Order: sequence, then C-alpha cells, then structure tokens
Amino acid sequence: MNRILIAEDEPRIASFLEKGLKANGFTTTIAKDAEEAINLALSDNFDLLLLDLGLPKLDGLEVLEQLRGQGLTFPIIILTARDDINDKVAGLEGGADDYVTKPFRFEELLARVRLRLRNSQSLPKKQNEALTQLQVGNLILNLHTRKAILKGQEIDLPAKEFSLLETFMSHPEQVMTREQLLDRVWGFDYDPGSNIVDVYVGYLRKKLGTNVIRTVRGVGYCLKQSG
Ligand code: CA
Repeated sequence: MNRILIAEDEPRIASFLEKGLKANGFTTTIAKDAEEAINLALSDNFDLLLLDLGLPKLDGLEVLEQLRGQGLTFPIIILTARDDINDKVAGLEGGADDYVTKPFRFEELLARVRLRLRNSQSLPKKQNEALTQLQVGNLILNLHTRKAILKGQEIDLPAKEFSLLETFMSHPEQVMTREQLLDRVWGFDYDPGSNIVDVYVGYLRKKLGTNVIRTVRGVGYCLKQSG
C-alpha cells in the first residue's frame, strides 16, 4: 500500500485530499506546517509527498530544497494557488516532479499521483553502469557526476538542465520538438503555451555557448555536433 504525506495547512483541503486518497486505497499522514513536513518526511518511509507551497514556518520551496538536499528521492508533487511561471520553474528546478495548481479536480491529482508512483517504482535502482558518459563533438556529459565538460572545463547543471542536455545528447543532430522535450524532461502534460523549454534552452546556451543548440524555426531545437 502506498503511503502519502500531505503537507497542507488548510484543514479543509487536507481532509479533502485525505478522504479522496484513502477512498482510493492510499495511506495518508497530514503535516500542518513546514517543520512537521520535514520531520515526518525524513523520519518515516513515505512513497510520495503532496506539498503545499504556502505553509506556516517555512516556504514549501524551502521544504523541497531541504528534503532533496538530504537525499530524499521520492516523488514530490507541489500543490499551490500560485500559478506564476516563476514558482513553477523554481519548484521543478528544486526537484519537484509535478505541479498542480489550486483549484484542481481530485481526479486530476489522483492521476498525477498514480503516474508519479508508477514512474518512481519502475525506475531502475541503479544507472546503467556501462554507460557513464555521452559525448557529442567536444561536449561530454558525465552521467554519474551529472556535470557537462566542454573543452576540459567542468560545468554544473541543475537537475532539469541536466535532463534537457541529456535528451539532446542522446539525439544529436536530430530535431526535437518542444512537445518531445517537455514530455521527456518534465514528464507530464505541461501547458502547451508554456515557454519553459525555451527558457531552459536559454540557460544551456548561456553555459555552453549559443551555437551548441540550434533553433529550428516553428519546430523546435537541434543539438549540433561541433569541434
Ligand atoms: Ca497553505
């Protein structure tokens, strides 16, 4: 049975989530503030965290940062009334797996919970040992340290930048559409009007140079073999 931690300070929403999840066979625990959420998440063995961003004591994004910083890898779905793109980017950058904006339909949340649990349980426990790096031209991506190496220079990459570059480097010289990139890197049905792919391509270009990823107008992007 899957155990879900609900970090939500509004009693009505917390009990709405708890009732719905219990009716669908999950076990739930409610944390009413950020400290409780962190303590529970670290001390007990949960399968997934539903994390409200507006929590007493600490911001939900800080909770996220602390938990990922402690090496917790279970799926985290952010729940929030803030539909600002900056919060979305910050949440996903901070290691959240998914994002649900309030108000939401319970069915939508349930579908996302199930998807995240399925993905996390089907993941191999260890990366393929044989494959330790990808190389395209003079650009190397180390899959263990999760750093890029360009002309001998190590470059740090936050989680989503790493995933995006990994996707490009697995398909060099191939045009990738925004939808393909969204699907592979963010892994869920993002708002098709979102410019998150473009924002992250911009981050990679800043670090790797503007010529590495070419824009294919009206289609998407393509990683060029250089050097
Ligand atoms: Ca709240």
